[in-house]
Amino acid sequence: MRIIESVSEMQQQADLWRRESRRIALVPTMGYFHEGHLALMRAIRDHADILVISIFVNPAQFGPGEDFERYPRNLERDLGLARGVGVDAAFVPTTGEIYPEGYQTFVEVKGITQTLCGKSRPNFFRGVTTVVSKLFNIVKPHVAIFGEKDFQQLMTIRRMVGDLNMDIQILGHPTVREADGLAMSSRNAYLTSDQRFKALRLSRSLKEAQDLLDRGERRSDAILSRVREVLAEDGDVRIDYAELRDPHSFEEVPEVTGPTLLALAVFVGVARLIDNCILHLSS
Ligand code: AMP
Repeated sequence: MRIIESVSEMQQQADLWRRESRRIALVPTMGYFHEGHLALMRAIRDHADILVISIFVNPAQFGPGEDFERYPRNLERDLGLARGVGVDAAFVPTTGEIYPEGYQTFVEVKGITQTLCGKSRPNFFRGVTTVVSKLFNIVKPHVAIFGEKDFQQLMTIRRMVGDLNMDIQILGHPTVREADGLAMSSRNAYLTSDQRFKALRLSRSLKEAQDLLDRGERRSDAILSRVREVLAEDGDVRIDYAELRDPHSFEEVPEVTGPTLLALAVFVGVARLIDNCILHLSS
């Protein structure tokens, strides 16, 4: 596995692969790998000849007071795991390589980024779309993959790629969970064992919402009040948002009449955890 730190070296290598008619796949990440990351790598491997991952904790997507500095990092371990799944190259730039002095350009998707995570984290999606655009220009992939755990992010990337006519196929991957239902996340490392137990309420509340729907409840208010009840059983848990939305427009829905996004963001201790599912009518 090649480890590439410089933008120009990565671009030259990508050009070489393209000249050899090799199809390039990219998995953008912020590192501190868990099975979710590895599942993305395995899933995209069959869609290309060359598998590239990037590891970059992107300062542009963190707000003031957020966890950029203490975001968990372990490059050596990540590189070992990537090697194990057959990654061909890891692009691991420094912050200065991606945002050199004088940097002034940002890519912004409007509309769907202005709600949910975009409301609580105002510069988050702008940071994501900017760095992903740069990674696309640097790694020159034919195909890239993103997790449905970050559903709004996946939809934002799809919108950007469509709107800007980027010639890149975007794949989504279902959320990978621990055996007890907790969505895997690098931020789970922040949880004490007591908090980890409380964090199970996110996936449990998603399940309860689907159960309610299966029993005939359609009203968003009723479903969301049950979700909030499950989430907020006792202290140490603060709901950022719990919302039912149209999965394409992200508009609120008063009633569930078809596939509907149930999206959660919840602070458990210092960790801001997100989870979501698409609710389906059973009949
Ligand atoms: P991150 O390193 O957290 O920025 O995540 C890198 C990629 O992995 C993103 O596309 C995430 O959506 C995806 N991802 C993170 N956690 C999971 C998970 N539990 N299941 C599926 N994909 C995930």
